[in-house]
Formats: sequence, C-alpha cells, structure tokens
Amino acid sequence: MIIITQPAVTDAQIDHIVERVEEFGLKAEILRGSERVVIGVIGPEDVIREKPIAAIPGVESVFAVLKPYRLVARNGAAPPPVLIGNVPVGTAQNVVLISGPCSVESKDRLFSIARSVQKAGARVLRGGAFKPRTSPYSFQGLGEDGLRLLADARAETGLPIITEIMDTRDLALLEKYADCLQIGSRNMQNFSLLKEVGRSKLPVLLKRGFSATINDVLMSAEYILSEGNPNVLLCERGIRTFETMTRNTLDLNAVPILKAKTRLPVVVDPTHGIGLREFIPSMALAAVAAGADALMIEVHDDPERARSDGEQALVPEAFHDLVQRVRAVATAIGRDV
Ligand code: PEP
Ligand code: MN
Repeated sequence: MIIITQPAVTDAQIDHIVERVEEFGLKAEILRGSERVVIGVIGPEDVIREKPIAAIPGVESVFAVLKPYRLVARNGAAPPPVLIGNVPVGTAQNVVLISGPCSVESKDRLFSIARSVQKAGARVLRGGAFKPRTSPYSFQGLGEDGLRLLADARAETGLPIITEIMDTRDLALLEKYADCLQIGSRNMQNFSLLKEVGRSKLPVLLKRGFSATINDVLMSAEYILSEGNPNVLLCERGIRTFETMTRNTLDLNAVPILKAKTRLPVVVDPTHGIGLREFIPSMALAAVAAGADALMIEVHDDPERARSDGEQALVPEAFHDLVQRVRAVATAIGRDV
C-alpha cells in the first residue's frame, strides 16, 4: 500500500504515521519528493486493508497495490472452463447458449420450449422455479414442482439445468435437482446466500446487481470462491441508468474487462439487459463480438400468456434465427456455437 501525505504535512505528523504503521505490525519506507512525502507500507495486503490508515492526520490518500479480489483474479495461465452438467463454459473455442423460459409454468410448456431451444442449438436449459418478483402479488414460481419439471425436462432432452436460488434454506432442495445455481441480480450482495452457495459443489451463475459496479460483482464472486467453490460464472444482465427507453442498459463494457481481470467465464443476458424482444438479437450478437463465453436468452412459445417477462421472450423461431446469426459472429472471431 502507498500513502501519499498532504502537501503541508509536518515532520511530527510523518513520525506519527510511521509510528502507527509500525504499531499495526507493518513496515514503513519513506520517500521524500520535492513536494510530497510518499510512504510505502510493507506487509500482507489483507492486514493493511483492515487498518484505518486514511484516518491518520497528514494522510491525503492511500492506494492499494494488490487487487482485493485475489481468488477471482486472472493469474496468467489460461483459466479452466466451468462445467454446467457436462457442458464446459469458458473454453476458448465455444460460445454456449443457455435458453428457456423466464419461469417454469407447466410440463407441456417447459418440454416444448426445451425441445425447441435444444433443436436450435441451446446446450443448457434455464427456468425459474423461485422467482424474485417486485410485487408479492405477482407469480412467485412453482417452487419444488417447478424443480421437478426441470429435472424431467433434463431427463427428456439431456440438457443440464440452471435455476435461481433465492433463500439459503433452499440450498439442499436445489442441489437435489439443479446442475447450476443462479444468483439473481437482486441477491448479488446477499452475502449469506453467497457464502452458502460457496459451500456447494454446484457451479454458480452470479448475475450482476442492477446497481452494482464491476468491482462489486468481483467482490461478490470472491465471497463464493472464498468458501471453497471455484466454479463461478459472471453474468452481465444490464444495469439501471437514466435511460428509460429500455428496461436496463446492457453494459457490454463489462465483458472485456471481466475477461481481462478474472479467471471466470463471462455470460451475457441480453434479454433482461435490454428487455425489449425486437432488440435482443442485436445485443446478443454484440455480446458475442465482445467476447462473451455464453448467452442466456429467454424463450417462450406463447409470450402473450407468459406468467413472467413475456414482453422480452423470443418465440422459438426467432431464437432459431438468432442462433444462425450468433454462429456467424462466433465464426468471425474464431469461435463456434
Ligand atoms: C431471470 O433470469 O429470470 C432473472 C430474474 O434475472 P435477473 O436476476 O437478472 O433480474
Ligand atoms: Mn426473466
């Protein structure tokens, strides 16, 4: 850590800063410039970070040398892909399509959507059984019945399944059925939930909170890894901005940044990112061009009757067309679908 002192710092204050740093069990190295004094603090960063060094009189600013997210950080070697069931996500070669309805609604509907997205090229089936709805009066999901239907759809199609966990008390139940746990946007900083899934053997798809910075996402992922679960996928799904024309603003800036800074696969959800059916394909193609390892896209065969997010669901034919175009973009950047 580097301490920059205030311009008018006195020698007594510098002595005091050094004393404090040493009291914390750390070492101080003083560098006197013509205008400022810079103090290097040497010791374990985790210990240093905990200390209120910025509160010592005469300190102007304090800079960390290392990133606070140690486990999620990229460390040179090509990071291993994360397996959802038997599907690797995060290989240099493949862009994986994750698709299905917003919510599991009924057996027939789920099976028909699962078959059509599989036929179009999807390799993982999504569907919510526990839905985080803004209103307590909206459809909350089918709960365990929904999980059973997802497992039946997996048995029928062979597609591994991903579904949202909202409550720490549901982990054992979800582990019985799911291949991958989804942490939704609204729970991205639910730290008890993050720690709980950090102790699971299942991979976790962590969706970015709609008011979360990229750094916040990384720190949330760090919670999961710090409990022992290395299998985390990061998902950009749009953030809230001043823009009102779209449901959210899909932050594609996050894709190359997350890829560069972390060892974790990056998934993009253009469905919630823009929230308007007709514009989802453009954002899906842009996400692949930006380097996404997977796309998560909601599909419904009767959006008018969908119990959640009908306005942003692609019909199976539109999803099929989109996959052809995604394939073309993937090929152009040396990848495949
Ligand atoms: C979802 O994937 O259906 C969902 C609720 O997503 P988010 O948490 O990104 O809103
Ligand atoms: Mn949805």
